[in-house]
Amino acid sequence: MRDIDVVERLTLDQYKVSVKASNVFLTLDAYRLLSQQIDNPLHLGVTEAGVYRTGTVKSAIALGGLLLDGIGDTMRISLASPPEEEIKIGFDILKSLNIRANGINFIACPSCSRQEFDVIKVMNELEVRLEDVRVPMDVSVIGCKVNGPGEAKEADIGVVGASPNSLVYKNGDKSHLIDTTTLVDSIETMVRERVANEQARRDKEIVRVDGTALV
Ligand code: SF4
Repeated sequence: MRDIDVVERLTLDQYKVSVKASNVFLTLDAYRLLSQQIDNPLHLGVTEAGVYRTGTVKSAIALGGLLLDGIGDTMRISLASPPEEEIKIGFDILKSLNIRANGINFIACPSCSRQEFDVIKVMNELEVRLEDVRVPMDVSVIGCKVNGPGEAKEADIGVVGASPNSLVYKNGDKSHLIDTTTLVDSIETMVRERVANEQARRDKEIVRVDGTALV
């Protein structure tokens, strides 16, 4: 609070306040307390959170808790990992909380003996291949027909694992069958088609705002 007083006395008004700590509980307590006392924008972070896996978990717990409380204006994920991973984790936290829609929200099962294809392998490949997609969409990829339809009906694109063919849902409705041995290629194609359609729709909207192409 003393530092804020100093900044205020200098009549600076373009600043944010950060009280990062490396401990999850201290981070939560500090920001919650501060948010009750000041109205300034708060920059969130678990500083020096650690290596990729544990640092991600710490950051998700602390920042997720604060964001759910409505606390926080900007944030930084601090991992002992390449900086681009920090950005991805940050977006994933925002995406999980429905704060920022950005790219694909995958719904996938953990896999078990009932799975009709190698769910983990397919998901790992899809995540890498579709990393560039920024259009928000829910894609459900489930290993069996027991739980697949329920998730598929809620997704923009849903795949219910079966052999030799898996069933695709689009916008909640049954669409068509795809060869289960080429799931990754087929799902990528469907996602990119959806991206192209969304882009075309947005382009049309832009033209409409300009009024130039309304004939
Ligand atoms: S959804 Fe089906 S395949 Fe996936 S973990 Fe559950 S039971 Fe197993």
